[in-house]
Formats: sequence, structure tokens, C-alpha cells
Amino acid sequence: MARKETDYSKYLRLEYIPHIWCPGCGHGSIMKSIIRAVDALGLDKDKTALVSGIGCSSRIVGYMDFNTLHTTHGRALAFATGIKMARPELNVIVASGDGDATAIGGNHFIHACRRNIDITLVVFNNFIYGMTGGQYSPTTPIGSYASTSPYGNIDPSFNICRLAEAAGATYVARANVYSIAQADNFIKKGIQNKGFSVIEVITHCPTYYGRKNKLKTPADNLRWQKDVSVSIQKAKKMSEDELKGKIITGEFVNKTEKEYTQKYEEFVIGKAQGKI
Ligand code: SF4
Repeated sequence: MARKETDYSKYLRLEYIPHIWCPGCGHGSIMKSIIRAVDALGLDKDKTALVSGIGCSSRIVGYMDFNTLHTTHGRALAFATGIKMARPELNVIVASGDGDATAIGGNHFIHACRRNIDITLVVFNNFIYGMTGGQYSPTTPIGSYASTSPYGNIDPSFNICRLAEAAGATYVARANVYSIAQADNFIKKGIQNKGFSVIEVITHCPTYYGRKNKLKTPADNLRWQKDVSVSIQKAKKMSEDELKGKIITGEFVNKTEKEYTQKYEEFVIGKAQGKI
């Protein structure tokens, strides 16, 4: 029996479709994953703000029919923090690429983690700057080719989830486009977490990263994601050598700590009003 498809068109600005992404880009899968998570939680579109910086992933704010903000490179979390401080009742979701989140926006990233402000950050990690021509980013693996590393990248790459964990995020998880249902679940849990959540989704840029790294077709990229991924449970039983070149997926952090706007309300506003 054919599976019944849910109609998610109410979450889209259909007048801006077709989108500008290259055929086979993984970003559309993550956009739909966010939509499914929002739909499953029954979030009110008018009480949900979606913020992005710059890059191919940032286009989702043009296509999705929420309160949206397309900001400057690396500054999505700064804008999102302002929204959350002014309107703590809103659900605030940020879409960011690997370069946007961890290069230009690296400082905003660690400080949002440290503050534990109730924002859900979805990082579209395709290991490259797609929109600007395929330059290497802070997550490009050592030895990979990019337009700015024609002989192979020599910079060690950031592990986004470990970085988020060390900086204090209270929900941290990684999935990939190949297993997109897992991403739906993590994004849902991230939104439900009353604090700062980081969901890294490994995605693909066949046009730049794939073409330069023997992953020319979208199918090659998906097969690669499947082959290199190891669940966190399985990884615990593997040696360091066995884990070389693998990408661990799963939940890294899921804990409860006081949220920033609540703290602000209680301590700062409370003191200013002489309540404490
Ligand atoms: S350049 Fe890469 S990341 Fe950008 S739309 Fe094309 S495939 Fe996707």
C-alpha cells in the first residue's frame, strides 16, 4: 500500500519555489526535516522564528513561512539571541552552515553554548563553503580537496559536537542526510530542550566538495555518509584506530540546566525591580 504523504506546503512560501540549490544538494532534506519536527511538535508558525546567516543553507529562511530573518555572515546566533531576549516566548531556530557557524560565527557559537539560551541551532555541515565557490571550511577533513586547498587541506577540522559540548550546550546531537529520520528526532528534541541545542546534520555539496573529492553524484555522497557513520553506541566499543575516518552519530549531550532568559528574568530584572 502506498505511503500517505503529509502535505507540508503550509510551511513553505511556494512563490519562491523552485529553489536555487543545485540538483542533488542535501540542504532540501534538512529543510524538510526541520518542517517535520516543527509539525510533529505542533508549533505555532506565528510563534516560531527562523534565523540564518549567509551561505547556501541560509536560503531556507526564504522558503519557509515562519517569522524569518536572513542576517549577515556568522551573525545568525547574535540576531537570534536578540530575538529570544526580547520575546522569550518564541521558539527560535537557527539554520547555519559549517563555515557560518564555526568560522565567522565561531565566537557567537561558543558563547550561545556557554549561556544556554533557549535556541535550537541546526548546523548544515557539508565540509565546504558552497555558495562562494568551494573554499575549505573549519570542518573540511585533513587531506580533502577544496578550491583553496588544491593539494589537500592541512588544517585540522573542528568536531562541532565536541566543541558544543565543551562550551556548555545542553542538547547536542549529530545525524546525517542519509538517515534523515534520525535528524527529525534530534531536531524535535532540540526544540523541546529548554536551553541551547546544537544538531549537526552531515550533508553534501556534490557541486564543490563532491566533485573535488571523488563523490561526484548525490548517490555517491549518500553512500559515503552511510559508510563512514558509526553510532555512538557502536563507537564506544571501537578502538581509536578503528574510528579513524569515521563520523560518530547520535546524542552526545542531553542535560537540564537553567536557561539564560529565565536567569535574566529572575536575577537581572528581579534585582532591578528590587524583588531580590
Ligand atoms: S553549491 Fe553545494 S551547498 Fe550550495 S546549493 Fe550547490 S550543492 Fe548545495
